[in-house]
Amino acid sequence: MESLVDGYLRHIMDKVREDRSGAVADYIPELAVVDPERCGLSVCVHDGYTYSHGDSATTFTIQSVSKPLTYAMALRKHGPDVVDGKIGVEPSGEAFNEISVDDRRRPKNPMINAGAIFAASMLLPAFREVSEADIDDAFGEILDFYSGCAGRRLSMDDDVYASESASGSRNRAIAYMLDSFGALETDPDAAIDLYYRQCSIRVTTDDLAGIGATIANGGMNPRTGRIVFSSEIAQRLLSVMTTCGMYDGAGDWVTSVGLPAKSGVGGGILAVLPGQLGIGVYSPRLDEHGNSVRGVKTCQHLSKDLGLHMFNVT
Ligand code: GLU
Repeated sequence: MESLVDGYLRHIMDKVREDRSGAVADYIPELAVVDPERCGLSVCVHDGYTYSHGDSATTFTIQSVSKPLTYAMALRKHGPDVVDGKIGVEPSGEAFNEISVDDRRRPKNPMINAGAIFAASMLLPAFREVSEADIDDAFGEILDFYSGCAGRRLSMDDDVYASESASGSRNRAIAYMLDSFGALETDPDAAIDLYYRQCSIRVTTDDLAGIGATIANGGMNPRTGRIVFSSEIAQRLLSVMTTCGMYDGAGDWVTSVGLPAKSGVGGGILAVLPGQLGIGVYSPRLDEHGNSVRGVKTCQHLSKDLGLHMFNVT
């Protein structure tokens, strides 16, 4: 017999499926070929048990949901003082791909492309002649880290990677702009290649929920018991996800959902209830900010019905 929780989550899925508004991202050609009707929801609780609904086994590319994870890796490798000298933590209020830096010429935060490309660059060797093998090594570390967070082995979608590489002039421009400031310590083309690879990692909503639960648990994956990063890093991720995680819709999101979160143009959203659970939602049609329409609605329902808002005082 279906549990109360499963009945409730299925009901939410049925409700949000009725909404066909928004549009699938098409600026990366390969993203435009997905089935727009897909809709999945997973909730991973503190002991690793996962409630999975709808298209929870469908894979999609992680896109910008990767940004907090690579930021975590940069923090782990270099420490917060070095990273803070390079990437700010102020919300930009601008679109994800804005060529946006502060008055110290630092990317404003790690959740927009400039900051995320910079964070990826910090995982490469600090010299200009970066070889293909160096990029492969750095990407191997990214895959290991993301897999550790998800609790299963992840892989890259070669078609999305090729499509994004072939159509990614804007991100290349951002990398070259950062380079022109003398900020990048590595080859800008290698940084962008690594960033495109990380964005093309395939996940399911179960994976996003597992990653969210790992952040919620202070860096320990509740399914495997493995400690992937420190609780200090988890706190930092939750902070930047709260202030900068939902593109230029972050204010609306905090008001109506009130959970640290990160979304991606692939249609995924990862949300976290600190100390408690991780939520993964997927549906490819996006609103004007680039957030999944059904994903946002699902999280609004969960937050309201279950009292998950971080400023809940009732
Ligand atoms: N790979 C995408 C880009 O840089 C990620 C964008 C996103 O999900 O916000 O354009």
